[in-house]
Amino acid sequence: MPHSSGGGSHGGGSHGGSHHSSGSRGGSPRRVRSSYFPGARRFCYYSHHRPVYVYADHDITKPFTPANLIMILFYIPFFIGIFSMFGSAVHHPKKLADNYDTSIVIQDELGVIDNKAMLQETLGQFYHKTGVTPAVVTVTNDEWIGKYDDLENFAYDKYVNLFDDEKHWLIVYSQPAGTAAVGRSDDFVDWYWEGMQGDDTDNIITEKKADVFTNNLHKYLTARSRYSVGMAVNTAFNDITPSIMDTEIIWGEIFMGLGMLAFIALHMCIMLGLTPKARKYRKATEIPQTAKEDTCEYCGGVYVIGTCIKCPHCGAPIKPHEFTPPPNGMNGMGAVNGMNGTNTSGMNGAGFDFSDSAKYTNQNQNGGYFR
Ligand SMILES: [Zn+2]
Repeated sequence: MPHSSGGGSHGGGSHGGSHHSSGSRGGSPRRVRSSYFPGARRFCYYSHHRPVYVYADHDITKPFTPANLIMILFYIPFFIGIFSMFGSAVHHPKKLADNYDTSIVIQDELGVIDNKAMLQETLGQFYHKTGVTPAVVTVTNDEWIGKYDDLENFAYDKYVNLFDDEKHWLIVYSQPAGTAAVGRSDDFVDWYWEGMQGDDTDNIITEKKADVFTNNLHKYLTARSRYSVGMAVNTAFNDITPSIMDTEIIWGEIFMGLGMLAFIALHMCIMLGLTPKARKYRKATEIPQTAKEDTCEYCGGVYVIGTCIKCPHCGAPIKPHEFTPPPNGMNGMGAVNGMNGTNTSGMNGAGFDFSDSAKYTNQNQNGGYFR
């Protein structure tokens, strides 16, 4: 369907054409806090020779859960949209094929086009350069005022009645019957005009180029003492024809695309836990709510009993501790539970033999717990 390329009136100034755009977002992160909340699991990691405690309702050491993978799928349409935006931001206008009726229509009911042969020539030049066939129609205000909401609706009807393709660019000009027939005067004339471009012309008559044409034509129509309507249209076409096929980079779309890309990427990193904090969380260990701290005898660094067999700060062996393993089923504690099982005889019921390093190392590798 054709759509407005812009227009205006003597009283109301000029307006741009009808175009559109869209966007949206969604989601919510899981809970991680620095203090306890009901149902929280407790984690610990080391930073600046101190343990840092984190409370979460999920295993913060495993950032990639099935929910995360589903979330990545959720972002795919956004990235596709953004990259297609970059593609459309660079316009290489392509001349339209001449597989339609390309005869140039100039219908001057008002008799305000005093340079018909010249205008025909000018519109022909525009056609030869673009493959878009321009047309100019002038009507009296009576033809549409009271019958249509505005000249844009009338111009739309005019377009679809005159042309059965989407390759024309129709300029409709209107003024009251009997006023300033040819026009070179400063008298007030209640004039209107509207451009109607076929959809196939969008890649050539871009929003930006249509705006240039709209502003120029409006300026010439307003300078009625210097331009007749025919000369105004002629001059506006002469202005735009030399640059109409120039490649156009729409920087606004590029910057908007970059901004959206940054926003979506940041949003995704936060949602997927790809933050500097989350990288620390990955090295964290789940610990019982009751876990106690102790100080390394060699470097003075603080560690949490049960999270390590060597000092996490200097690597020195740490003294043996009484340690109560967390209840069965706590995620990430498999190594400890398994260990407990192998140590039921000989050891005291609740503790570990930290000198049993061979077994400990083996458990460590299997469980990935004491890293
Ligand atoms: Zn140490």
